[in-house]
Amino acid sequence: MTKIYLKKGREESLRRFHPWVFSGAIAQIVGEPAEGDIVGVFAQDGSFLAYGHYQIGSIAVRVLSFSGEDVFDPGFWVNMISRAKNVRTSVGLTSVDSRTNCYRLVHGEGDGLPGLIIDYYDGVCVIQAHSVGMFRSKSAICEALKTVYGDSLKAVYDKSSGTAPFKAGLNLIDGYLYKAEGFSDDEQIVLENGNRFLVNWTEGQKTGFFLDQRENRNLVGRYSRGRNVLNLFCYTGGFSVYSLASGAAHVDSVDSSGKAMAMVSRNMELNGFEASSHTEYTADAIEFLRSVPEDKYDLIIVDPPAFAKHRGALNNALRAYQRLNAAAISKVSPGGLVFTFSCSQVVDKEAFALAVFSAAAQTGRSVRILDRLNQPADHSVNIYHPEGEYLKGLLLYVE
Ligand code: SAH
Repeated sequence: MTKIYLKKGREESLRRFHPWVFSGAIAQIVGEPAEGDIVGVFAQDGSFLAYGHYQIGSIAVRVLSFSGEDVFDPGFWVNMISRAKNVRTSVGLTSVDSRTNCYRLVHGEGDGLPGLIIDYYDGVCVIQAHSVGMFRSKSAICEALKTVYGDSLKAVYDKSSGTAPFKAGLNLIDGYLYKAEGFSDDEQIVLENGNRFLVNWTEGQKTGFFLDQRENRNLVGRYSRGRNVLNLFCYTGGFSVYSLASGAAHVDSVDSSGKAMAMVSRNMELNGFEASSHTEYTADAIEFLRSVPEDKYDLIIVDPPAFAKHRGALNNALRAYQRLNAAAISKVSPGGLVFTFSCSQVVDKEAFALAVFSAAAQTGRSVRILDRLNQPADHSVNIYHPEGEYLKGLLLYVE
């Protein structure tokens, strides 16, 4: 096995269980590791630090274990996936009579498996590998899922083509790693807090559904009764369904993706809402907002895609959040609510709050923060890896 020795002093972050080794921290590589191989990481004095997946790039090793040889144990994947499932069980997500039968099963570093995302949709597991090591481990991961879920597992779909790094020799084609006999669909209806959603993992964005807004959708539902709601960047209509289920007067949903909007219609039907209670617009959210008359909406949801995918884009992203939020705050009716979010990992909650503060100041309206919003428990954050926190939001009251 390849041994990687770190420069003096660079072992500190690993001793504090941070799961990444940056290439700049490496003093010496003894061996010729292929990308995705498991390597051992050692301090300058030769003491063992960790095992992890090796990759050429700024993060050279993603740590799988800080102890012993457990990564080579045949039960490694079953153990890690079972532990991740136990967390979901402990917050009530896995019981068969649950009103929710979809959740994030593995959230990368949050579950000790850097580079791996697994979303669970009522028996269908959708995998996204973000590293060569996880991509190369997908068969073992699939076998472990079969062991952990037994007969209730319907399918395992690998959707890594958009997330795994493009490297020579990696065949980045999405497809099923497993299908139970008789299972043939590429989509199915799932339940989230008792609401029905059609999820299509082959055609949809990411793994098919944004599971990270489950708790915030509940909160939107709680404040929706009797209100005129505008759901911007609605994707398949998650927030819209909760609003209508909770008695919103009317909901307008806006997304620039025609495919997503077609799913919104189907989700409205699935939940039995009257067509007159809902209007769908395939449009650019910012242009749509511009044309909205003032006071038309008393609840506006703003959940854009990540404006900054890396640090270099941070300043432009902050300006974009400010512009978007200023437009929403200026249009909501007096006494109205704005739910505003950012899922950019590089925009931390202080920076986001500052962008929204600047937006509010630009409108000159009186704005109170009623709540601070987060990612849910199944998108868990490893305390030693604060970078895992990415979704943040504010609930604003605008006079
Ligand atoms: N709120 C959604 C998730 C939003 S993801 C939910 O609860 O499921 C971000 C969405 O923004 C995507 O569906 C994407 O199609 C859409 N989008 C991206 N750019 C847009 C734009 N300029 N105007 C409107 N929608 C946009």
